[in-house]
Amino acid sequence: MGKILERKDFLRATLYGVYIYAGILLITVITLFIISKTVPSAYIIERYKPPLATVVYDRNGKPIHTFFLERRIPVSYFQIPKHLINAFIAVEDKRFMRHYGLDFKRLVKAIIIDIYLGRPAQGGSTITQQLARNMFLTPQKLLTRKIKEMILAVRIERTFSKEEILEKYLNLIYFGHGVYGVEAASRFYFGKDIGDLNLAESALLAAIPRSPSLYSPLRNFERAKRRQRVILKLMLKNGFITKEEYEDALNTEITIVGKREGTKEEIAPYFMDMVRRYILSRYGEDFLFKGGGKIYTTLDLDYQMAADSILKLELDKFEKIHHLEPKKEEYVRDSVNPQPPQYLQGALVTLDPNTGEILALVGGRDHNDSEFNRVIQAERQPGSAFKPFVYFTAIDNGYYPCDKVEDLPIILNEGQENEWKPENYDKKYLGEITLRKALALSRNLATVHLILEIGPGAVASYARRAGITSYLPPYPSLALGAVTLSPIELATGFSTIANYGYRIRPYFIKKVVDKNGVVLESHKPLRVHVFDSLSTYIVTNMLESTFTEGTARGAILHYGWNRVAAGKTGTTNEHRDSWFIGYTPGLLTCVWVGYDSLRTIYEGASGASMALPIWTLYMKKILDELPDTEFVVPQGIVFAEVCDQSGLLATQYCPLTHIEPFREGDEPQEFCNIHGPKGRIQKLLKEFQKQELEFQRSVWK
Ligand SMILES: [Zn+2]
Repeated sequence: MGKILERKDFLRATLYGVYIYAGILLITVITLFIISKTVPSAYIIERYKPPLATVVYDRNGKPIHTFFLERRIPVSYFQIPKHLINAFIAVEDKRFMRHYGLDFKRLVKAIIIDIYLGRPAQGGSTITQQLARNMFLTPQKLLTRKIKEMILAVRIERTFSKEEILEKYLNLIYFGHGVYGVEAASRFYFGKDIGDLNLAESALLAAIPRSPSLYSPLRNFERAKRRQRVILKLMLKNGFITKEEYEDALNTEITIVGKREGTKEEIAPYFMDMVRRYILSRYGEDFLFKGGGKIYTTLDLDYQMAADSILKLELDKFEKIHHLEPKKEEYVRDSVNPQPPQYLQGALVTLDPNTGEILALVGGRDHNDSEFNRVIQAERQPGSAFKPFVYFTAIDNGYYPCDKVEDLPIILNEGQENEWKPENYDKKYLGEITLRKALALSRNLATVHLILEIGPGAVASYARRAGITSYLPPYPSLALGAVTLSPIELATGFSTIANYGYRIRPYFIKKVVDKNGVVLESHKPLRVHVFDSLSTYIVTNMLESTFTEGTARGAILHYGWNRVAAGKTGTTNEHRDSWFIGYTPGLLTCVWVGYDSLRTIYEGASGASMALPIWTLYMKKILDELPDTEFVVPQGIVFAEVCDQSGLLATQYCPLTHIEPFREGDEPQEFCNIHGPKGRIQKLLKEFQKQELEFQRSVWK
């Protein structure tokens, strides 16, 4: 009885056992099935491409920047030296050429080690498994990841040949210091192309990927060298090299360079911020960092380099000469508690005024200290740099450069709370002067008198049409630039005058092309004709006087400027801003210098003392090889030599004259009535009478 019971129990127990085993098997199969569903298919494996860098070019096709996540330089299997391949096979996966993605001998060994350690350890992975991990999986040591890796490895082996697998693997693996792939690693560590590597170097390179932080010869040469010797021994053992080659390699001296390519100081960092933001907002991160696209910009690399260096050099100089505090060199960058730098700042932008292309842009003194792009983000008072819009409004409404305006004191809203008593920079009054002189010498009082004649509302409306987008309060103080705007706005407004009345829209992307060469977008200049070309030409002609007889004479006298140019200085209340905007027929540059905190730069700081030297040195440099050209005179303009005092045709007796532009038919017809022959006779008569009087006095004595 008991025996039967025992047998029954035994059968039942066996049955239970079978159930449990079947259950476990079923669960395992289902789990494997589910996991395998999440592993990339053969189709995806075949189409896989490592992330590609996106390159940004300047307007002449010179590369200026590369956006990438990982630095790699792909090479084909045939470019890779045999020794290097053998070194990797010897140390990472000696049965690579024979297995189907998995090496069961090593796997069993690895599992035993894992059990012994009580956690999954590295190792036991074939080259194919490592490739699988690098291609698709995140490097965590989890069991499911391990299973996925094995499934993927088998799929990869079925999709690619051994050579293809090796090529992909060697182009993908990480060598430390931000370097991926054998070619980039060879250049980084040894400063040579992969084809020039000797056996010793190849073995050393193969030593690194197991743990780049541990075996980087740059970090620990001795440790890397020890592993290199192990690899050479393995190569000898596996018949990859002869005893002689082995001995030779052991004795080969190795020089480590450790130099990264293309990590010089970043070029045009503020401009690149603009490019990055634009591309991110339109195409997203994957396109920018992995897309392998090409971005063609309007930047001129040569102009940009000149702008960067001259702005930095001059600002350093100003700090020294004028004893400005705090100095840039004293600024301490604190990554934990970042404080915006307080030192003197500057900004520069160059446009092609005819197209709106941004050719150079410096948004601040040091992008590492402050990413604030002063060209487009700063809101500053333009001060006298705004005056050309006042004079343009007058000229477009029938005034001429030889017309008169009073440079005399004025008080507005006298006795009221908003009383305004503008002053000239030199606190002097020149009396009745020509518009040309008033603008060239930047006379505040003359300009206030003029805006009262033509109306602040009209000036605001003209400035708006010229391209100023900031709010323009229609008050008389607009004459002196009591508004806030960005340097790019001011440059846009000036462009409209510079290019004969076409309002342009500044732009910086010419073309975006994807990795297959498909043009995703392209931009052409956007021009709207908003002003009479004759009026704009007359103002350009007036602004030439800034250089020849006005506030920018220093450019000619002290900085050797010898070209045709038009421009305007700008200085604001309490010497907070120094501006200069000037253009030649084809290039317009706006320079600003000041403190972010709106402090006084120093007593006496002006547009002429800071922004102008930067402008002049920079423009001289970039125009160096180009011929000097005149501004094109539009049809409908005639010139006449005019007496400054009478505003009539000059005679040989007039002491001060200008050759002035007029709209055809508007030029004066009569000769000067002050200094003409008639005037001269009266002068002689007076002199004779005086002499006569003195003679008579002497006779009486
Ligand atoms: Zn005269």
